[in-house]
Amino acid sequence: MQFNHEDDHYHQKHDTTIRYATDGIPRLSVTNLPRTENEVCSLDFPPSQSHQYKGRSKNKPGEPEKKQDHLDLKIESKTIQDKLFCTVHQVDSTMLLEVVKSLIHDGYTALMDQRCHSAEQMFSQLLNIIDPSELKQLNLRIINYVVIIYGHATSLLGIGLPEALTKAEDQFKRIIVHYQEERFDCLAYYGIGKVYLRQNRFSDALNQFMKSQTMINRKIVPGVLTWPMTSQVIEETRTENLQLFLKNCIEECKFPPEPDGVCRYQHCHGHSKIQIFFTDPDFKGFIRMTCCQQCRVEFHTNCWKKLKTTNYSDKNDKDFLQELCFTPDCTGLISKIVIFSSSGLVKCEFEQKITKPKEPPRAIIKQKCSR
Ligand SMILES: [Zn+2]
Ligand SMILES: [Zn+2]
Repeated sequence: MQFNHEDDHYHQKHDTTIRYATDGIPRLSVTNLPRTENEVCSLDFPPSQSHQYKGRSKNKPGEPEKKQDHLDLKIESKTIQDKLFCTVHQVDSTMLLEVVKSLIHDGYTALMDQRCHSAEQMFSQLLNIIDPSELKQLNLRIINYVVIIYGHATSLLGIGLPEALTKAEDQFKRIIVHYQEERFDCLAYYGIGKVYLRQNRFSDALNQFMKSQTMINRKIVPGVLTWPMTSQVIEETRTENLQLFLKNCIEECKFPPEPDGVCRYQHCHGHSKIQIFFTDPDFKGFIRMTCCQQCRVEFHTNCWKKLKTTNYSDKNDKDFLQELCFTPDCTGLISKIVIFSSSGLVKCEFEQKITKPKEPPRAIIKQKCSR
């Protein structure tokens, strides 16, 4: 058994307790899995059982020799990977089959209940323990493996956090790059479209959905599929369902909602787009300035910081009141500043009535700061 995929996950792991059973494994518990996102294969035993093996005579004749300190060992070194190999090698293929079956069941039911973190753990473990070059051992076909990648990607999509979305996109792309022959691309493009949709990147999303639609029109589809080893149909593999989902998504992309702000920073590169939505997965707040002639100018919090550092020697936000509006050619003065924090709530609000631009401004400054 090899761990070809997501090898880096192992290196992030430092505190896994691995217990080694020595004469056969009565039952693998796959329910008490840790909640870390990048979980590695964790074949843990119920405490009572692991205790039972502790200290018992370890080696049967003919079995490879094991040392006592392999038992109930808390591993903190980077040799974890090798040791995981050992553990999994001990699991015979029948046992592995049971584990795989159980993980698939738990994975897709979690996904259907929208318990995406749990689902992600299950599918992640499946990808860790299944060697794609040894699928026959498990009576699996390549398409089944692709479905597991798809399950993992869909779970990550459901988690919706920025890093999870990036990983989801990678997994969907992996299907397109490596498994084109399985005709599963229409679902992968649909998935990537959903990632972009979640990121409020409507035109990028539309592009992906249209690819999926084209493939359906050309009947380049995998056919109705079930979750491997089950009779549970993956609903979006029914072409009529996928078509309906696509129709709704395409509609949404063609008529996207108005953004909550648009960043005016000239070098707004650090973000995927200049449009700002409170619902952006990477939302980190923004500043909105209104001038006395009703212009509204917004900046991502980070872009605003950069702009202030480079052009305004880190001037206080409040001191931008009465300054010339940021809109080119507008002669208005800034009369209101609202700062939204990453929580989406107003953090600070400064306002100054500006009656006529030429008059000296009034001394009273209305200031509200929840900081
Ligand atoms: Zn920006
Ligand atoms: Zn203006």
